[in-house]
Amino acid sequence: MGNGRAIIIRGGRVLDSARPEAEPADLLIEGDTIRDIGPPDLAAPEDAVLIDAADKLLHPGLINAHTHGYHAAHKATTDRWTLERFLTVSPWVNADLSLEASYLSTKIAALEMVLKGCTACYDLPLPLPLPTLGSLQAVAQAYIDVGMRAVIAPMVANISIFHAIPGFIDVLPAAVRGDLEARKGASVDVILGHKKALFQQWQPSSDLVRLAVSPAIAHHCTTALFQGLAALAREYDAGLHTHLAESKVQAVAGVRRFGKTLTAHLDEIGVLGPNVTVAHGVWLDRDDIHRLSDQGVSLAHNPGSNMRLGNGIADVRSMLDCGLTVGIGTDGARASDHQNMYEATRLAALISKVRGPDGQDGLVAAEAFYAATRGSARTLGLHDVGRLESGYKADIVFLDLKSLNWTPMNDPILQIVHVEDGTAVDSVMIGGHLVVENGRPTGTDLTTLAAEAERLKPRLADLLAQNSEILAEIEQVGGRFCGALSAEPYRVDRHGVHLE
Ligand SMILES: [Zn+2]
Repeated sequence: MGNGRAIIIRGGRVLDSARPEAEPADLLIEGDTIRDIGPPDLAAPEDAVLIDAADKLLHPGLINAHTHGYHAAHKATTDRWTLERFLTVSPWVNADLSLEASYLSTKIAALEMVLKGCTACYDLPLPLPLPTLGSLQAVAQAYIDVGMRAVIAPMVANISIFHAIPGFIDVLPAAVRGDLEARKGASVDVILGHKKALFQQWQPSSDLVRLAVSPAIAHHCTTALFQGLAALAREYDAGLHTHLAESKVQAVAGVRRFGKTLTAHLDEIGVLGPNVTVAHGVWLDRDDIHRLSDQGVSLAHNPGSNMRLGNGIADVRSMLDCGLTVGIGTDGARASDHQNMYEATRLAALISKVRGPDGQDGLVAAEAFYAATRGSARTLGLHDVGRLESGYKADIVFLDLKSLNWTPMNDPILQIVHVEDGTAVDSVMIGGHLVVENGRPTGTDLTTLAAEAERLKPRLADLLAQNSEILAEIEQVGGRFCGALSAEPYRVDRHGVHLE
């Protein structure tokens, strides 16, 4: 749109973390950037393209601090489910994710995000056996085709969950151990070589997508691998994203393995820094939070996933009080199904209020909205998104103020956090391009996509069926082993609910 001409958006009300009253304002956009914002009748070039935003509320696109686009085709495929169950079956059901499946799944996730008011995300794909340029391009192309911004961090690890938790491998039946042995991963040098090659070859056709690194889970990577990835991230000025202390099992296993918390371990091996984002952090203690804050690390808070997998309630109040930057994420669809950032933001506000009788240390709506916009922007390492201000990217969501969600409009910040659910999204602009208009994506036919997605379904079912015996065995043994581990006492309690 625009053909090089400026765009002037007139008649809307602008809601931003610095503009909580949502007063009327016009926005002038040149290229992909907001050049000016001001009261109605803002000056604009004569040939500027006019967008009429009467009866619209404009807000900066929400930013998803943590997701896995490759999960999208697997939404609503499990009911009672834990992180450990998820990780123990992964070696079998993640196998053979084709480039086509990876592209389609990521596209489904990206479309759901933009249609629900989200304009950028940190995506952690899992290219197996190793990240290649082709696998990365498939993911990147999905975002480029939807027109969405994404930082893409292909996950790697060199220790399976069975080896990451002391004693786990010993309780597995011999047949399962043998099958795992056959799936043994590449050496540290090979993984780092692949990753370096990716940085050297990475030439995306759009600046919407960026490359980052991901040692998938803190204790699923050897020290050499984690340090090697951290060095690569520094060399290429890229972000580093890892899952940290997500479940109680992980926290207990970390202390058992390292004699200290997982965070203390990462701090000691020198891999923390301002380019690092840790996901979840449910089982961080005060010292951990201080360590992360002192190193300038940011945290992706995934309240829906933390509830869905039974991992507990992250102590976001202490994080914010310590000055830790917190963003909000949905997590992948296999962990928490939908990719609705309005919902994730509301869950962050709600879950923070269940820890005491008066909710006094809960997040206020302004804190939740800030986290979902500016906080998440920090986690992505992007300094020019998350606000509607001059100099920031034109990533703008247009909400229909005639929607029931806004009838009547009271406090706009309270309303966007506690009422809006995505149904009022009318249009979405990313980098000056409208990627959603009148509630429909501009670049994708959803009917065609639905037909393509149907073809993906049998693959997961086949993998589950092919491996049903081994998976049943793992469920039994793993459930017992991890259950015992999570029953052990730990220095903090993030489950927080003790029924008589
Ligand atoms: Zn995750």
